[in-house]
Amino acid sequence: MALVGGMLTHSMTGATSMNGADYLVLIVLDGATPEYLGVPNMPNVRRLIRNGISYSNAFAGILESETPPGHATIATGSNPSRHGIVNFWWGDLQKQKVDLFDPSQINDGAMEAIISQAGVPTIASLVHTQYTGSKVVALSGHKYYAADALGGPDADAILYYYGTANGQFVPTAVPAHEPPAGVLTAPHLAVPNHNIPLGVENHLTMRLAIDTFNRMHQQVTLINLAEFDWPLGHVDGGTIDMGQVTTLMQGFDHDLGLLQDAFRRAGVLDRTLFVLLADHGMMPLHGKIDEGLLDKAVEKAGTPIVTSSYNTSACYWLQDSSKAGDAALNIANLKNPLIQAVYAVDLTTVGRPYRRVSGSSLLHDSAVERANQYLLSTFAGPNGPDVVAVFTEGAGCEPGGQSGWKADHGGTSWQSQHLPLVFSGPGFRSGAVSTAPARLIDVAPTALQAMGITPYGMQGVVLADALTSPPPDAPWRQAQMSNQLVPVVAAMQAESHLELSAGA
Ligand SMILES: [Zn+2]
Repeated sequence: MALVGGMLTHSMTGATSMNGADYLVLIVLDGATPEYLGVPNMPNVRRLIRNGISYSNAFAGILESETPPGHATIATGSNPSRHGIVNFWWGDLQKQKVDLFDPSQINDGAMEAIISQAGVPTIASLVHTQYTGSKVVALSGHKYYAADALGGPDADAILYYYGTANGQFVPTAVPAHEPPAGVLTAPHLAVPNHNIPLGVENHLTMRLAIDTFNRMHQQVTLINLAEFDWPLGHVDGGTIDMGQVTTLMQGFDHDLGLLQDAFRRAGVLDRTLFVLLADHGMMPLHGKIDEGLLDKAVEKAGTPIVTSSYNTSACYWLQDSSKAGDAALNIANLKNPLIQAVYAVDLTTVGRPYRRVSGSSLLHDSAVERANQYLLSTFAGPNGPDVVAVFTEGAGCEPGGQSGWKADHGGTSWQSQHLPLVFSGPGFRSGAVSTAPARLIDVAPTALQAMGITPYGMQGVVLADALTSPPPDAPWRQAQMSNQLVPVVAAMQAESHLELSAGA
């Protein structure tokens, strides 16, 4: 392809995709569950599903199943163990807390430095390498850490919303990723920052995506829609409140139509691949675990906690990692029925794998241990925690500001992991539903392949069953992956069912 008069055209050298997807619009409905796609009266979403392929067994396939690692995994096609973003915060090998929840850290380039140092390719880097002059834009509402993870070091523009000192909710850019002058200052992109009705933040994000496309004509638009996760998921409980789900989804459908109008006016809608997905699941909480008890158990091992995270699992980074086994055993000895299993890092083995220290009484099947081990392997490495306690389905640890949350994610439970995934556009099968396991790391390789870009250096596989003309080796690679992952998904689903019925 070449840029001619500002429009992307196919070159005579055949560099373009055989499948013909020249543009990519990837939309992360943050923390959405697959049920959200079933909301009625969504003609634009429905059309994408009807003309595309949906994965009914799509799952995050990473730990922690949280927003920063989820988006970094989507962008890099690699696991947190490789790209290095394992959560909002963690303890590094120097026993320092790295905190990407701090917006100044994002604006100072801390996340992008970690991704750069990891040496992983991203959607942005591979698109730029293949197509000189192409543009990549990543954006979110209030989630700077999602926009920055989606775009990564090589995105042209990385945009998000924030509240100003004088009470406005306005878009801004991560430094070194500014859009052309005027994009951020359009009056229709700002609202007063109080009592903003549900759906407005998502709408402004989509509006910002349309404005950037009208100005930049970018090949790749990576969008995070934050309200699906907060407030809809955590505060309202996601599927617990289908009225709010319907409000947000129908609002999104309307905005999707506006975005598609912009692509139609530019004459490129039929050359655009749309990907709809979530970055993790959202699990209604039925039981809660007191973080004070977990902390006390860990501290009894005799080493300070560098930092910790609490969600549908609990992770600890310790000053002295060699105490991980003792700390994990102390948690296991609490015999809390909501704690499914406790793991400690094994420092003596290359790759820092995890060893289960708890008994097997709460693991209904040995396949669950293998599923947990698969997920644990995805963040095992220098930034991985020393101790991991995974909880039963419906259980969470929700201290402080999380105490009122009705739903959460982060751990190994099926509802924390299960997510919607739809590919729709040129080169993709139409009206298809695949039961093949599909992970976040497989999204970028599949989308890039459809754009004529070989996804060198990514850990995920091309989902060959999505494509009308997959590369010759892709079906075999996907089958190899499925052989490994079908039992993982089945074990997670069966365990979820058993634990939910035991807790009922
Ligand atoms: Zn998220």
